[in-house]
Amino acid sequence: MDMDKVRDMQHTRLKMMSFSLGASSVKQIILDWKKIFLTFFFVSIILVILFIQLLRLLSYVYSDWKIVQLKKSNNQLADQLVNYNNKMQQLCKIVSELEQKDDDLRVFVDLPTVNMDIRRLGVGGQSNETFTTYSSISEELVNLATTVDQEITNLTQRVDLLTTSRKAIKYKYNQNVTLLKSTPSIHPVKNARMGDQFGYRTDPFTWERKHHNGVDLVAPRGADVLATAEGTVLEAVSRYTPNQLRGKYIIIDHNNGFFTKYAHLSKVLVKPGQKVTRYTLIGKVGDTGRATGPHLHYEVIQNDVNVNPKSFFLD
Ligand SMILES: [Zn+2]
Repeated sequence: MDMDKVRDMQHTRLKMMSFSLGASSVKQIILDWKKIFLTFFFVSIILVILFIQLLRLLSYVYSDWKIVQLKKSNNQLADQLVNYNNKMQQLCKIVSELEQKDDDLRVFVDLPTVNMDIRRLGVGGQSNETFTTYSSISEELVNLATTVDQEITNLTQRVDLLTTSRKAIKYKYNQNVTLLKSTPSIHPVKNARMGDQFGYRTDPFTWERKHHNGVDLVAPRGADVLATAEGTVLEAVSRYTPNQLRGKYIIIDHNNGFFTKYAHLSKVLVKPGQKVTRYTLIGKVGDTGRATGPHLHYEVIQNDVNVNPKSFFLD
C-alpha cells in the first residue's frame, strides 16, 4: 500500500454518489472532516443569528403589545379618575347640604353658625408634588388627580368639623332641655286670683312702704301648690313661730341659678333633699305666718336677685 492511499483513507469520511436515471453519468462528492466542520460551523452561526433576530423581533412585538395594553389600562385609569372626580363632586354637594342642616341645627339650639371659610379651610392648601413625580402622566391628568386629592383632604376636614359640631349641638340641646326643665315657667297654684304684685307696696301689718319680693296668689286654704320647675328641695319648713313672716314654707333649688319660694302654706308635703319635677305637688295653700288670708306668696330668685315671677308664667 503506498502512502497516498493511506492518507486518502484517513481523510475521507463521507463519500456521496449520485446516479442520474436518464444519463449514465455518476457524480461523486467526497467530504472530508474539515469541510464537514466548516459547513456545520457556518450553518450554526447563521442559525444563532437567525434565532437572535427572531428573539428581537418577538421582543419588539411583545413590547408593542405591552404598550398597547398599558395605553388601554392608562385610558381606563384616566376614565376612572374622571369618574372619581364626578363622584367626589356629588359627595361635595351632599356635604354642603349637611353643612346647611348643621347650621340650621346650630341656630335651633342657639349656637353661632360656622363661617363657610372655616368649613372650607383645606381648599387650595396643597401642592401637586405627589403626582408630578410621574413625569409620564399628562398635565391634564396630574391636575385632575391633584383636584381629587385636594377634594378628599378637604372633605375629610369638613366631615371632621361636622362631627365635632354634631357633638356640640347634642351637648347644647341637652343643656337647653335641662335649662328649660329647670326654669320656673308655670303658676304654682291653678285658678288663683292675683293679689299683691311684685314691687313696692304698703305693708298690710306695719303700714310701711316696702318692696314685695314676690307675687301673692289668692286661693282657698288647702288648694294644691305645685313645683314650677325641676329641682331639689332646699328647705321645707313646717315649724314656725306665730309672728314669723313666711309661716310654713318651701325653697326649691333649680340648680341653674334659679330658686323658688312658696310661703304661708298650710301643709308642707316634701322634705329637704327631695327631687321634684315641674307640677310635683309640694304643699297646700294656707295663711301661716304674717298673712291676712289664705294665699301663696311665691318668689323667683335668679342669681341671688328677686325677679318678677309674673315674667316666668307661660301658662
Ligand atoms: Zn306676699
